[in-house]
Amino acid sequence: MSVRWGLIGASTIAKQFMINAIRAQGHGEVAAVMSSSAERAEAYARENGIPAGVSTLDALLSDDIDAVYISTTNELHLEQGLAAIKAGKHVLCEKPLALTSADARKMVAAAGNAGIVFGTNHHLRNAGAHRAMREAIAAGRIGKPVAARVFHSVYLPENLQGWRITRPEAGGGVVLDITVHDADTLRFVLGDDPVEISAFTQSAGMAGGGLEDGAMCIWRFKSGAIAQSHEGFTTKFAGTGFEVHGTEGSLIATNVMTQKPVGSVLLRTASGEEELSFDREDLYTRSLRQFHAAICGEGRPSATGEDGIWSLASAEAALQSSKTGRAVTIDPQLGSLA
Ligand code: NDP
Repeated sequence: MSVRWGLIGASTIAKQFMINAIRAQGHGEVAAVMSSSAERAEAYARENGIPAGVSTLDALLSDDIDAVYISTTNELHLEQGLAAIKAGKHVLCEKPLALTSADARKMVAAAGNAGIVFGTNHHLRNAGAHRAMREAIAAGRIGKPVAARVFHSVYLPENLQGWRITRPEAGGGVVLDITVHDADTLRFVLGDDPVEISAFTQSAGMAGGGLEDGAMCIWRFKSGAIAQSHEGFTTKFAGTGFEVHGTEGSLIATNVMTQKPVGSVLLRTASGEEELSFDREDLYTRSLRQFHAAICGEGRPSATGEDGIWSLASAEAALQSSKTGRAVTIDPQLGSLA
């Protein structure tokens, strides 16, 4: 069975990763792309070998497509997602799903009622490194996890220094951009849900319009584990990492908060140190494979709509904490979605 995709958004992420990931499935086809500009739609279609470039959502949704991938700026995801769901298309939506978790819930509920497959494009769950850590923890190799540290402060590449650092109304800022990924990766690796978050944010010189370009968050999880995370757009030399420390051992992963299947994971216990081996498959290709399987009735997308609600609710709580100076409880209603 072939799966025909329509791209909503002539974006960098689609060009860099998602078009390839769709085509890597064998039965995946990119049938059309939609941009708000007819000229850009045509140019993007031509440059990427896509048969059709259109400039309205109606034109895209009336095309013979099975699924849409939404990678427009964040304020557009809700309306475009709801329209695609109404048209009966499966939806893979970029994070954050919307500007508020209440809106994200509306979209995920609509998808559930329509019986379509809905996924959130949290790529890091698909990284071999994060899956190896999750498996090691689930197998008890570090005992009971008590703390995690996430190092995810990067330098925003010059070609992406646009709406993320200038347009609050488009959902700019590092928290909606990167903290959502850290929330999802912490939940995935720990197999636990956050209940409370406290955050400081900063404008360290790159972002304007009142947007933050750096954040440090402290998290408390249901199990009692605590975590710290650092997200940023302004640090050129920091490197990335993800650590989980347990009663019987530590997992120390380096260079793993990235879009590429790179990095290393070290397990340190009383028996010494061991490099964990893991697969190096492209993260987005794996995500697409699970999404296609879900369309065929096998399993679920690697990150579901509910996962996207969790990550956005966490980011929302972080932003609220940074404004009020107090720890914020993550909406307990979400518990029923876990
Ligand atoms: P881009 O800035 O590349 O694209 C976003 C929108 O900007 C496009 O839909 C397009 O509008 C417009 N645009 C792009 N290039 C130009 C241009 N040269 N001139 C004018 N307008 C332009 O964003 P990203 O690809 O970085 O991000 C898109 C979405 O994907 C966001 O929601 C982001 O959070 C998410 N993302 C997710 C990642 C992940 O790994 N999961 C990684 C990176 C981003 P139009 O479609 O109307 O032409």
